[in-house]
Amino acid sequence: MLTDIHLVSDSPAEARSLSEQALALIDRLQAPRGPVQYVVAYVLLSRLNAQLSQAFEPHLRQDTAPPVKVWHALFDSHIGGCGAQMPESVGEALKGLLASVVEHVAEAGRNSDVFGAEVRHAMAGLDQPGDLGADAVLEVARRLLAAGESARERADRLQAQLQASVADAQRLRKELDEQRHAVMHDPLTGLLNRRGMAARMQALMQAGADAAFALLMIDIDHFKQFNDSFGHAVGDAVIRNVAQAIRACLRDIDHAVRYGGEEFLVILPETLQHGALATAEAIRSKVSGLRLVRRRDNLTLPSFSVSVGVAAGRQGEDSETLLQRADAALYQAKQSGRNRVAHA
Ligand code: GH3
Ligand code: MG
Ligand code: MG
Repeated sequence: MLTDIHLVSDSPAEARSLSEQALALIDRLQAPRGPVQYVVAYVLLSRLNAQLSQAFEPHLRQDTAPPVKVWHALFDSHIGGCGAQMPESVGEALKGLLASVVEHVAEAGRNSDVFGAEVRHAMAGLDQPGDLGADAVLEVARRLLAAGESARERADRLQAQLQASVADAQRLRKELDEQRHAVMHDPLTGLLNRRGMAARMQALMQAGADAAFALLMIDIDHFKQFNDSFGHAVGDAVIRNVAQAIRACLRDIDHAVRYGGEEFLVILPETLQHGALATAEAIRSKVSGLRLVRRRDNLTLPSFSVSVGVAAGRQGEDSETLLQRADAALYQAKQSGRNRVAHA
């Protein structure tokens, strides 16, 4: 689930303006000028992340600062992603990044102190008793200009550093999304793995126990024979093609899982038994119609099939029991001759 991230502008002027707007927003909302607030405000104003904009919208509408907890939650879910699944390396990198942002914000404070002191020093020239000569006025003006120039240079440097930090945050975010994806998916087929399945299942259960959902347990028939005759690589190709056929029969809200070697599980939310049976039959029929050709010698491989067990959820039933019923139905389909659909 990659968030809607675009690259931050390369223009230092634009980035500086964003940085100023971010601090202005934090001040307007009377929030602390902390690193988390700064990064959230910066990313928000740069419209880099549509989900963050949406989540922040109510606070902008009411023109009130979210509580500190909420700033951190916004950062975690939309920028840093410090969730439970965060891999160690990314976590360390993010910590380093945050430390550097803290340093930059602190430096911004020191810079404005330096600028204030320089201006006061320059203005002291105006406090001399008696009339000021043209030379003295010119000297004050020269000092003010120099103070302004060096403040601008410091701000530019700081801006470049902050811009690099935001780019780092985005790179880390992307890396994190990729690693999360890898943890939840099977590399051969791209389907969810068991871990991904557990996560989806839990989300479904939380979303509403009474929303009907059904399971399909799918197993390739006589796959061992196929593997033994044509080799493991061809076996893998069969698995990939079955996975694709399954996916082609599903809606966006459904989830396909590589459950074991040549076994698949499909989760069909908001689906009653007749709908689940129709999807199972569509998959069975599509797989039995597949024809694979071995590239090496153009050999057309024998066709293959799947057996499917269907179980539709009952009121108050837990996912474990539903899974067992789908498995029992698959066993029935195998027993009654394979290449068929059976329901629990
Ligand atoms: P049935 O119709 O009863 O399901 O028979 P089957 O031969 O499909 O079932 P069995 O469980 O006896 O054999 C499954 C085989 O799947 C055994 C294993 O070598 C093979 N297999 C498991 N994972 C993979 C994989 O990732 N790639 C390949 N090529 N083969 C695999
Ligand atoms: Mg099998
Ligand atoms: Mg099997």
